Amino acid sequence: MNHVTSETFDANAKVALADSQLRGALRNATSLFGQRRLAAAQSLTNWEDLRTQARAIKDEVLLHLDQYLERFVSNAESRGAQFHWARDAAEANSIICNLAKERGAHTIVKSKSMTTEETHLNHALEAAGMEVVETDLGEYIIQLAEETPSHIIVPAIHKTKGQIAELFTQELGIPPTDDVAKLTSTAREKLRDRFAAAEIGISGVNFGIAETGTILILENEGNIRLTTSLPRVHIAVMGIEKLLPRFADLDVFLKLLPRSGTGQRLTTYQSFITGTKTDPGAEGPEELHLVMLDNGRSRMLSHPVTRQSLACIRCGACLNACPVYQQIGGHAYGSVYPGPIGAVITPQLMGLEKTRQLPYASSLCGACREVCPVKIDIPRLLLHLRGEITEKAPPAKGHAGERLAFKVWRATMKRQWLYELSARVARLFQGLLVKNGKIGRVKGLSPLSAWTDGRDLRPIESQSFRELWRKELVHKKN
Ligand code: SF4
Repeated sequence: MNHVTSETFDANAKVALADSQLRGALRNATSLFGQRRLAAAQSLTNWEDLRTQARAIKDEVLLHLDQYLERFVSNAESRGAQFHWARDAAEANSIICNLAKERGAHTIVKSKSMTTEETHLNHALEAAGMEVVETDLGEYIIQLAEETPSHIIVPAIHKTKGQIAELFTQELGIPPTDDVAKLTSTAREKLRDRFAAAEIGISGVNFGIAETGTILILENEGNIRLTTSLPRVHIAVMGIEKLLPRFADLDVFLKLLPRSGTGQRLTTYQSFITGTKTDPGAEGPEELHLVMLDNGRSRMLSHPVTRQSLACIRCGACLNACPVYQQIGGHAYGSVYPGPIGAVITPQLMGLEKTRQLPYASSLCGACREVCPVKIDIPRLLLHLRGEITEKAPPAKGHAGERLAFKVWRATMKRQWLYELSARVARLFQGLLVKNGKIGRVKGLSPLSAWTDGRDLRPIESQSFRELWRKELVHKKN
C-alpha cells in the first residue's frame, strides 16, 4: 500500500488487514523487537529511574527551549557550523536545494532521517535535478521500491526477505537469491560508488547538545559515518526540539534509545560532530550546515498537554507495542510518522481537518505509554486530540438503536439488582451467539453488529465478580 493519505485511514486499515503477507511480516518483526526491548530493559536495574530522568531532562529543555537553542547555536557556530531556520517543510527544502545548487551538486547521499521524510526533501531535490541516494539499507530498499517508510526505525519492516530479493533482481539486475549476505553486499557495492561521487551528504540528528554545540547521530551500518565525512559539505536537518542541555545527559539517553529501539545495549556507531574540521588535512566536511525545522513544533510547545509530544526520541518502541500498528503497519496512517506517536504528531503537524481519523486509531490500551522511554502519555494526548475534534465538529447523534442501548445501559448500571438480573439473562441467551469461545460477528442486531464488526467479544463469565466475592466471604466465615 502506498500513496495513501491520513484522510482515508479507516479504508487504508481495511486494505492492510486483508494483506496476510504484510501482517505476517509485521507480526514477526514487531514481536522480535518487543522481546529484544524487554530483555534489554531488564538488563538494567534502574530502567524506571532512567525513564524518569529522561523525561525530566526533556521537560527542562522544552520549558526553556529558547535558551537552550541560543546556547546550542552559539557553541556550534563558534566551531564553524552554519545555521538555517525553517518555519515549515517548504522553507527547509528550499534552503537545502539552494545550498546544493550554489555548490553545483549533482549527487547527494542521504542517511536515514525522519525529519527529511517529514519535509519530503527527496522530491524537492529530485525536482531540482539532483540525484538523491538513500544509504541506509532499509531506506535504500524503500527508495528502490518507490515507497515510503512504514516504521520510524525499520523503514522496510513491512517487506519479507522474498520481496526484497525480487526487488533487487528487478531493480539491480542480480540473479535471484534470498541469501541475505549477498543482498547486503550488492547494496553496499552500489552505494560505495555513490558515496565517492557525492558532493553533499545529508543526515538527520538524534541529539543536539546545547553545552558543546555537538550533534550526535546513531546507526548500525556505518553509512552515516560516510555520509557525514566523505562529501565536502554536510547538511544536518533537525527538529528544534532535539536538544539536550548537557553532554552528560547522553548517559541517560544512550542507555534508553538503543535498548528501546532495537534492543541493543548501544548502536554500532555513534557519530559525534562538533563543527567543521579545523585542520585542512583532517577527515570530515569543510562545511557543516544545520537546518533547524519548526514545522508546527512551536504550536505543540505552546500547550502543556501537547508539549510532551516533543519529548519523543523516535525510538519506535510504541509502534512495536501497539496492537493496531501490529496489524496494519505504517502505510495505513498515510504519514511518515505512523503508530501511536504518529497518531499524535501527524494531526499536530498537518492539522486535524485532514487527519481526524488518526486519534481514533487506538484502543487506548496504554501499551505505548508502558514502553515509552520518555514516559509520553500517548493515550492522554489521543484523548486531548479527540476532544479537540469533538469541540470543532460535534459528532452526529448516532444510530437510534445505539442511543436506546446506551439509555438501557445507563439505567442498568445505576441499579444493582437490574445489573445482576441482566447479566444472568445475557448468560442464558449468549449461547446462541458464542462460537469457539467467543462472540464473533453478529449480523443484523444493531448496535451489537457494529461492535462485533471489527472485534470479537468475550462471553460473559459463568459467575460474576460479585458472586465470586460473596462465595469467598461465606467460605471465610465458615
Ligand atoms: S513516543 Fe516514546 S516510544 Fe514512541 S517513538 Fe517516541 S520515544 Fe519512542
